[in-house]
Amino acid sequence: MTTIKATCTGCGEVDLKAEDILLRIGAARTINTYGFTCPGCAEFVEKPADERIVRLLLSGGVVPVPVHVPAEVLEIHDGPTITYDDVLDFHERLQGDDWFSELATPRTTH
Ligand SMILES: [Zn+2]
Repeated sequence: MTTIKATCTGCGEVDLKAEDILLRIGAARTINTYGFTCPGCAEFVEKPADERIVRLLLSGGVVPVPVHVPAEVLEIHDGPTITYDDVLDFHERLQGDDWFSELATPRTTH
């Protein structure tokens, strides 16, 4: 059984087994993380896993968990952030009967 060394911010270096480690692999490389429950302080420690760490963990026998990223996360958003007022306006609009045709008609002003 391979021993994997990881670092807990509180306890320093700790020895783990492959099955102690939760390796999350996402669609975008930036969100790969690995985590473990520290055997010293029982805190869950989660850290980013770059390509080198991912390879090391995989070679140590860690089974990766694929993380499903909703397509919306990868969309590019523009325009102003939706505010509570916008949500309230939308809510009030939905009370009427004509909300669909109102919204389907493009408006030039906000
Ligand atoms: Zn610890």
